[in-house]
Amino acid sequence: MTTRTFTGQAAAPGIASGPAVVYDPGIAPGAPGGEPAEELARLNAAIARVDTTIAAYEQRLRNQGKREEAEIFAAHRVLLRDPALRDRAAALVVEAGRPAADAFSTAAEEQASELEQLDHVYLSARAADIRDVARQVRHVLTGSRGLVEQLTTPAVVIARELGPSELMNAPRSLLQGFALAAGGLTSHTCILARGLGIPAVVGLGDAILHAAASARIVALDGDTGTLTLDPTAALLAQVQARQRDLKTRAATLRSAPRGPVHTRDGRRVRLLANVATPAEAHAARAWGAEGIGLLRTELLFLERPDLPDEAEQLALYHAIAAELPGLPITVRTLDVGGDKHLPALPLPAEANPFLGWRGIRIGLSRPEILLPQLRALLRAGAEADIRILLPMITSVAELRQVRALLDEARRQLVAAGQRHCATVQIGVMIEVPAAALNAEALARDADFFSIGTNDLTQYTLACDRGNSQVAELYQPLDPAVLRLIAMACAAAHRHGRPVTLCGELGGAPGVTALLIGLGIDELSCAPAALAAVRAAVQATDSARARAIAEQALAAESAAQVRALLPTVA
Ligand code: PEP
Ligand code: MG
Repeated sequence: MTTRTFTGQAAAPGIASGPAVVYDPGIAPGAPGGEPAEELARLNAAIARVDTTIAAYEQRLRNQGKREEAEIFAAHRVLLRDPALRDRAAALVVEAGRPAADAFSTAAEEQASELEQLDHVYLSARAADIRDVARQVRHVLTGSRGLVEQLTTPAVVIARELGPSELMNAPRSLLQGFALAAGGLTSHTCILARGLGIPAVVGLGDAILHAAASARIVALDGDTGTLTLDPTAALLAQVQARQRDLKTRAATLRSAPRGPVHTRDGRRVRLLANVATPAEAHAARAWGAEGIGLLRTELLFLERPDLPDEAEQLALYHAIAAELPGLPITVRTLDVGGDKHLPALPLPAEANPFLGWRGIRIGLSRPEILLPQLRALLRAGAEADIRILLPMITSVAELRQVRALLDEARRQLVAAGQRHCATVQIGVMIEVPAAALNAEALARDADFFSIGTNDLTQYTLACDRGNSQVAELYQPLDPAVLRLIAMACAAAHRHGRPVTLCGELGGAPGVTALLIGLGIDELSCAPAALAAVRAAVQATDSARARAIAEQALAAESAAQVRALLPTVA
């Protein structure tokens, strides 16, 4: 038995191990059709039955407060009732004498492949939804075995693709995790897996289906995006130990007390969350976040053919704010460019995209993109504590230009008689060395700073954050980066402005004391990291943290800085 590891995309965090079930949706041939009228009646009855099932999934998720996941099934019901799909299936029954099951599958497949041929990530993902709906109807009509029938003992499921309904229908006690040949982190299946806490890896390629068929046991790591077939006994023991450890840690951390967080000597450090969706905002609340420190709005813009309008943006801000009533919601304006591209806004090819048309630079040169977002934010601010955060700021001039646009947005709302907030706090990301070096001027004009260590590290060390060739050089703890953070904190505090840190470093409990010592007032990180960071803040003594920071600022290298850090449980 040889051990083989396949690497795909990390789609939903967590670890799973156990026997593999290679799921084949089993497209059983439809039984020979009866009279067209009879087949049409069977088809309508099957559609009605699937509709009831999907409605029950939707309701179950709503009851659990999982609104975003519930919306997936609301959309499936719309697909199921699509008159074009039903008319085409009916025509195949009546005119071509096809059995109901085949007619519906064919009509659905035609729609799905049409979408796929458009070669667009967002639309291809919707094709998977249509196929999921069609499979449900087919199972009802032919009695073929779905995932729920094929999964009889706890296992990791391997499949070409898996639909949201199949995922929802499989008992959670049996479905340990899943790995898919097909890709697409933004597919509804992946969104649902993250919401339900099912570890998942996608984009493994079709080879996995054949390879996994003979595997006796598999280990799936949804954090690193790997699937290991027939791991060695030692590796399996390691994976299982990590699995147990994660479970106990999650249980202990979940039961930890909530509320305002202070260091051992009573210094208040606000804990906020980084999110992109209402589901994540829900998780943030569950983990005790005191607000949202970074709402990345890119997701709403990515993988769709058009730009979301003001109403859609407003709906997202309302949905996020509804998860954390009364708490601050810091929304970052669209931050694309670099390696993030919008199908609705083709970016010119640039020799150095990370140094090019990115972040606020796009918003300022294309006000027709930034203005609707600012209007939506001002409108959301009428009902929630919305704060605006600007990405990729290098100078105070950019901040002033945004303030001018904000005035323009306000004038437009007044003219349209739209309710909106009178004032809103505006903060800047400190993620380019120039922003840290210009911090004094920025602190005079900005209401708050948020330090983006992910980009600050890449720009300070001239080291692409996604390039594995230079991964060794990418050191967020390099003293050069720390000096810029300290400089930004000092300038902000001279002007009475709070400083949040929202880069990945904010979620690393081992670094919490150092960050507090450097002057950070608020930490914003992934919801699941909050509990560990809370414990780290509570274990910190401010005077000791300052001493660590002073030594770190005088250090020669990231390695020396790491040696200064306290070990955390
Ligand atoms: C950062 O650069 O640290 C940051 C938080 O922004 P993003 O990771 O979205 O670029
Ligand atoms: Mg950034």
